[in-house]
Amino acid sequence: MQYDDGNVFARILRREIPAAIVWEDERCLAFRDLDPQAPLHVLVIPKARIPRVGDAVEEQRELLGHLLWAAGEIARLQGHGEAFRLVVNHGAGAGQSVFHLHVHLLAGRPMAWPPG
Ligand code: AMP
Repeated sequence: MQYDDGNVFARILRREIPAAIVWEDERCLAFRDLDPQAPLHVLVIPKARIPRVGDAVEEQRELLGHLLWAAGEIARLQGHGEAFRLVVNHGAGAGQSVFHLHVHLLAGRPMAWPPG
């Protein structure tokens, strides 16, 4: 899939629109979801232009791992290191609505299984 530089997360990365940022490092940015589905709901996004997780190329394997590591660090720093859920939707059929790769970090309430 082609990456669209006009997507909302690209605009957050360029600081064109505000976000409640909780983490930033050289490879990723994390900010609170506008429509939180749990007491803690943070989106962890790479700075690289990757539309969907399955669009990442082999050279980006380490970056994908970095996103999971950062999510775990954020959960711990936010006081939810003992229980949290990470979700990545790939494609509109799976619920993806913003086509810049993002990891949902959800915590602070019981999590049902299977997910909806
Ligand atoms: P997904 O449906 O997996 O693509 O998730 C997109 C998420 O982005 C949703 O949970 C939205 O609530 C969230 N979202 C959309 N626009 C913004 C924004 N400007 N700031 C923070 N979160 C947003």
